[in-house]
Amino acid sequence: MIIGVLALQGAFIEHQKMLETLGVETFQIRNKDHLLKAMDGIVLPGGESTTMFKILKDQDMVDTLKEMIHSGLPTFGTCAGLLLLAKQVENYKSNYLQTMDIEAKKNAYGRQLSSFMTHAEFNGQKDVPFVFIRAPYIVQANKDVEVLAVVNDKIVAARQNNQLATAFHPELTDNLIVHEYFVNMIKNRK
Ligand code: GLN
Repeated sequence: MIIGVLALQGAFIEHQKMLETLGVETFQIRNKDHLLKAMDGIVLPGGESTTMFKILKDQDMVDTLKEMIHSGLPTFGTCAGLLLLAKQVENYKSNYLQTMDIEAKKNAYGRQLSSFMTHAEFNGQKDVPFVFIRAPYIVQANKDVEVLAVVNDKIVAARQNNQLATAFHPELTDNLIVHEYFVNMIKNRK
């Protein structure tokens, strides 16, 4: 199995480390040629969604990436990556990739609480550490979206078919549960 990690900006090395701990080969996607390499899944990391999307546009990667996701490539977006996937962003006029049927709110926790850590349940697994850094949350998830985690009544992890999104950063902890979940999404697809 080989997973491409979008490496234009943000926390991509941490994702590579988590996946490599799980025995998965990874490579960095820095341009359109890299995007066209064979891969079993892709990670869209945290960082800054507007900046990341601007680089995607500048590198002419947007349409290709959208097609790959639409055609079923397992995709895992964290934080800014979640915003890239969201069909709508409530408080930001965006047209990012818009492949996932969720509405998200950018910088949803306001200034004071913009970064915090908590423990919560992920897909029925208790006490998983969640790190939020100027994080979004999911305001609304359409009916074919499965909710995987909720914190303070807000959806913070969800899945729709081949797309997994978390508002938090599992790659900044040493808990492998969420990456394992993604790797199993890929395995079960094969
Ligand atoms: N606030 C960032 C954004 O709007 C996301 C933060 C993150 O990825 N840690 O894109």
